[in-house]
Amino acid sequence: MRNIYNIPLTQLSGIGPQKAEELNALGIESIGGLLDYYPYRYEDYRIRDLSEVKDGEKITITGQVITEPVVQMYGRKKSRLSCRMMVNETVIKAVWFNRLFLKDKLKPGLEMVLTGKWDGHRLQLTVSESEFPGRSSSQTGALQPVYSLSGSFTQKGFRQLIDKALKSYRSLIPEILPESIIRDRGLLERSEAVARIHQPGEAGEGQAARKRIAYEELFLFQMKLQAYRQMNKRRADGIAHAIDSGEIRRFADSFPFTLTDDQKKVVNEIIKDMRAPSCMNRLVQGDVGSGKTAVAAIALYAAVKAGHQGAFMAPTEILAEQHARTLSNWLEPFGMQVGLLSGGLTARQRRDVLGGLQMGLIDVVVGTHALIQEDVQFRSLGLVVTDEQHRFGVNQRAILRKKGLNPDVLTMTATPIPRTLAITAFGDLDVSTIRERPKGRKPIKTYWKKPDEFDRVLQFVEKQLSKGRQAYVICPLIEESEKLDVQNAIELHDLLQAHFDQFRIGLLHGRMNTEDKEQTMKQFNDREIHMLVSTTVIEVGVDVPNATVMIIYDADRFGLSQLHQLRGRVGRGEHQSYCILIANPKSENGVERMQAMTETEDGFEIARKDLELRGPGDFFGTKQSGLPEFKVADLTHDFEILEMARDDAAALVSQSAFWTDLKYTHLREFLQREQVFQGEVLD
Ligand code: ADP
Ligand code: MG
Repeated sequence: MRNIYNIPLTQLSGIGPQKAEELNALGIESIGGLLDYYPYRYEDYRIRDLSEVKDGEKITITGQVITEPVVQMYGRKKSRLSCRMMVNETVIKAVWFNRLFLKDKLKPGLEMVLTGKWDGHRLQLTVSESEFPGRSSSQTGALQPVYSLSGSFTQKGFRQLIDKALKSYRSLIPEILPESIIRDRGLLERSEAVARIHQPGEAGEGQAARKRIAYEELFLFQMKLQAYRQMNKRRADGIAHAIDSGEIRRFADSFPFTLTDDQKKVVNEIIKDMRAPSCMNRLVQGDVGSGKTAVAAIALYAAVKAGHQGAFMAPTEILAEQHARTLSNWLEPFGMQVGLLSGGLTARQRRDVLGGLQMGLIDVVVGTHALIQEDVQFRSLGLVVTDEQHRFGVNQRAILRKKGLNPDVLTMTATPIPRTLAITAFGDLDVSTIRERPKGRKPIKTYWKKPDEFDRVLQFVEKQLSKGRQAYVICPLIEESEKLDVQNAIELHDLLQAHFDQFRIGLLHGRMNTEDKEQTMKQFNDREIHMLVSTTVIEVGVDVPNATVMIIYDADRFGLSQLHQLRGRVGRGEHQSYCILIANPKSENGVERMQAMTETEDGFEIARKDLELRGPGDFFGTKQSGLPEFKVADLTHDFEILEMARDDAAALVSQSAFWTDLKYTHLREFLQREQVFQGEVLD
């Protein structure tokens, strides 16, 4: 059978080199590619009854001309043509503007199809498209596809092209999904679905086609993730950590709190992975303050107890230092050495840490993500803990393997991710979720204030500071200009310092060097600074339990998830905490975001809302999302289809037959053509 992805576009009558080039510019290279170029919406030309439409709506009707047309001229060029029509039992007036040439065609008795805007009061249709009987390429009576086009193509012309391609090549459209899946999931055949997505005809048919194509897109992407996951699981070249449950319990008992049930559950999942000889590749997601660090500490303890070392990679130097402090507090009583590898070290200190790691004198090292890339040698690295923003990808694994290491990897994210996105962006990972918050936490009271209420906000903060509490003030990161951003922060700092001369106000921004940043953080931690004005560098992970007020300036400039992250910096201690959003929203859905923040504190709920407001593409911010662009599938809504696709892909790749059986040839070829299995994925 001929492969339609190899048939050149010029095989189609009407496509010469010029048109072919225009199609290339749309990313269409072959007949197969043309048929895979789906419409992004439909125009409704289905015939409806007048009683169904609201005033001002667009409608397509059939009717009979009952009077001779009347012409009115306006000036020299403008004209108005009208006649009466019988539509079902109703007499209406049809009006055409500047279509004088239709005059001779409109004869009483003529049956025709009209599309236009309906005026129910005057019983009048302003016609935009008219179709006379006997025309072959009927546009009406159906849903018509609308494509994203450029160059000289019109929608009509492109529809005709698709129509030709379907007529000649439909039978060559290969089925790529396994028969069993099509049957079990009740999906349309591929050729049927492709034809119908272009030409849906009657209502409902388009839905089935859409479902099939959305399923296919999600399935193919899941095949890649699941194949990767499967191969990773089958490898037995990781470390089977020898872990004693009793020791883990004793270590956990040394914390100044009892683990929540969710923390315990996640620890168990991690320990199970670590004991297995394959490499752990697990994501822990939990809301801010849900206690992920404690969970990570237990995993690191387990790795060290089993005779290996651990590395903890933090997103910023400030956080690295903070985590190093926390981990030393917890691990050193058990005789474990924690080292910090930061940019601020002297050459000598750095040499000591590196030597300590190489010789195994240091058990756990904390640093930023430069940690594994550089000249760092481990005696035996058993576990890497990292954060979602710097996902530990295939490249990093490759670097470690070159060093003869194949550690377990634990990724942490404080951004709760809606399930659809988690399955898509993290489908190659096993996911553990901490939902429960540590007991006894007081909910954070969140208020939304307008900028002209700032004085009252300051009075409120003053009371808190007088009680010995501390406060953060966040000013937004202005993406276009870090300089402006820093300037903003400096101005706000000076203003606040002038207002509160009895308190010390600190300043933190991205232009400061590491040493100064750390100095400031330390002072805030030690309560020498009472209020910290900061750009969003503070965003992740900082933990100062005495801070009870979070003021977010120009709050509507932030996305919901980011606001939620920022709010998570307070409410970490015994005192009642407050988050005050200062905004006069002008930005898109700013009001909705402010309301969502004051209404809920549940990170998963916030994430869901955030996805709804921003759509999947923007959810993670821009580049590092790892989310593919789907033509038809929609991660905000196609949740059920996604779950099916994920389950089916996982089941299929786990059968060895998939990799060899002839009946999967088309699918394997398709995956290869789409480069699903190319490059790093199958390292
Ligand atoms: P996350 O990293 O998930 O944002 P952390 O690990 O920083 O959260 O924990 C937030 C705070 O809660 C820390 O001060 C931590 O010591 C404390 N904590 C963690 N687990 C518990 C628990 N089970 N009960 C009480 N406090 C806890
Ligand atoms: Mg393991």
